Amino acid sequence: MCGIVGYIGDREAEEILVKGLERLEYRGYDSAGVAVVEAGGAAPEGAAGNGAVGDGQAKGGAAAIPSGRLAVRKKKGKVGQLREALGGTNGPRGGGLRGSVGIGHTRWATHGAPSDVNAHPHTPPDGRFALVHNGIIENYAALKERLQEKGREFESSTDTEVLVHLIDDVQQATGLPLEEAVRQALTQTVGAYGIVVASAENPDFLIAARNGSPLILGVGDDGEHFIGSDAAPLIEHTRQVVYLEDGEMAVVRRDGYDVKTIEGADLEKEIHELEWDLEEIEKGGYEHFMLKEIMEQPTALEDCMRGRINPDKGQVLLGGLTEVMDRLGSADRVILVACGTSWHAALVGEYLIESLAKVPVEVEYASEFRYREPILREGDVVIAISQSGETADTLAAVREAQERGALALGVCNVVGSTIARETDAGVYLHAGPEIGVASTKAFTCQVCVLAMIALAMAEGRTLADDQMQAHLDALAGVPDKVRTELKRDEEVADLAKVYRYAANFLYLGRGYNFPVALEGALKLKEISYIHAEGYPAAEMKHGPIALIDRFMPVVFIAMKDSTYDKVVSNIEEVAARDGAVIAITNADNHELDDLCEYVMRVPETMEYLSPLLTVVPLQLMSYHMAVMRGCDVDQPRNLAKSVTVE
Ligand code: GLU
Repeated sequence: MCGIVGYIGDREAEEILVKGLERLEYRGYDSAGVAVVEAGGAAPEGAAGNGAVGDGQAKGGAAAIPSGRLAVRKKKGKVGQLREALGGTNGPRGGGLRGSVGIGHTRWATHGAPSDVNAHPHTPPDGRFALVHNGIIENYAALKERLQEKGREFESSTDTEVLVHLIDDVQQATGLPLEEAVRQALTQTVGAYGIVVASAENPDFLIAARNGSPLILGVGDDGEHFIGSDAAPLIEHTRQVVYLEDGEMAVVRRDGYDVKTIEGADLEKEIHELEWDLEEIEKGGYEHFMLKEIMEQPTALEDCMRGRINPDKGQVLLGGLTEVMDRLGSADRVILVACGTSWHAALVGEYLIESLAKVPVEVEYASEFRYREPILREGDVVIAISQSGETADTLAAVREAQERGALALGVCNVVGSTIARETDAGVYLHAGPEIGVASTKAFTCQVCVLAMIALAMAEGRTLADDQMQAHLDALAGVPDKVRTELKRDEEVADLAKVYRYAANFLYLGRGYNFPVALEGALKLKEISYIHAEGYPAAEMKHGPIALIDRFMPVVFIAMKDSTYDKVVSNIEEVAARDGAVIAITNADNHELDDLCEYVMRVPETMEYLSPLLTVVPLQLMSYHMAVMRGCDVDQPRNLAKSVTVE
């Protein structure tokens, strides 16, 4: 999910790697590290070792390595802190890491809290090779158990170290060269990875492999090659690149490279010319983080579901809830506590859990919950939802719930965050870093996690096997449907052009799409500063209808579901008062074309999953309006990404 850089050539690797990591900082991360293959013989004092910065000890056996040694430095925090700890040419060791082959990583923790030890690169006990990894090894728990049975001990809590031990294990058992051992280990691995491996034994050698997490090989002049998880760290060195595809592995030397499939079949790879400039690349080619994060939603949702749902077997496996699943499934009541966008996701969660698992749900603003002497009983389960996992009000609600004896669960994006640590169990979003202040991909992944929780609660209780399969098939199909929607971005931008000067907006929806109406209104006011309100569509006639005139755009979420006819009546009511209606409806529904000024179409899915699709054009519309109005989209005035004050 985060950043990778690799270098092999004749220059000192350290500066190229650290600079490369700085180029990748735009992705958001929590720790950084590098490993450099130092020439054999005596390494500068303190420069050898495989631990976190400051740990000068190799994990043993390094002396047996004939051709070089790997110096690993890694640190929780910013690349600047790593740079400082490395000391540079004028540093305390009188020099940085010396060697012209190396790898670097910025980590965005998915398994194990951000810490020096969990940071990458990771090495096997004898420090023979070092590996950096982006992504998630889904079957890490089963692999780890098997390796532990063989007596292997793990230093970190990461899934990545499991892969490192697996490669080591294969090599020790078979005596295969490193490249073949990596190949074999990867065939046992389920999940997403972009990995790069450096070898202490062979200083003219880097291995890169990809499955679901991008890697690019940069072909330089004069016997230099680069590897990057995107083009940002490469572009100042070369524009000639080879894109690795899923299931491919490259062995990169100073004088060339070979690309094969992971199974070992030879491949011919085309060299492409990078067209981007450095500035463009810093946000992955997008003008703003918010747009990048909107566009990332298909992959974020895939990562969120990765290894957790099995539509064929009709199963949901939420590893973080295994211990508490019985208690959750038999809960008397579930209370969802959250703030802002997470509160809207919670509202969708209420509908989901009640209709699929038939357990009563209440949704609370975290800030209200804590101060209103809530009545909690033993059978109650409180689920706290927070992207950052640091939201002060939500954290306080967790503590309140625990004090009153309720089981408290967390749904967070940031691994190792306070709410993730303090709750009794939980589920991570795995959405990747969200940097734009206005939440987008975290919302869809929160809804996705709540859908998985509802289905896990329903499994074997309220849903029959064939129903579960149908639900999970529909869930698994959502990312591709979001992909289809995102292709219509330009249409949404055209619409935004028309309405950008409006002073007020109303958003109306019913059922599962009532929370989407609230979220659409919040997105618009947050970043474009246009006043917007969301209501359940039927509430309009109890007040907001007084506001309708020809200057009031009204966004209706009018999906062809159980409430469709009622919503159409509300649209008629607005149209009769000259209001400008923008409707979001099913791709093939043309019944609203004459009634509405604009119709945005979204793909078909099951009713309970429609918020995952209907929210997307609303995110895009807010984004484009804000940009057209000259607003600072990623850092809207007065707002903070992580609200750590009451
Ligand atoms: N799953 C790995 C970890 O938690 C890699 C995370 C990343 O992609 O940065 O260490």
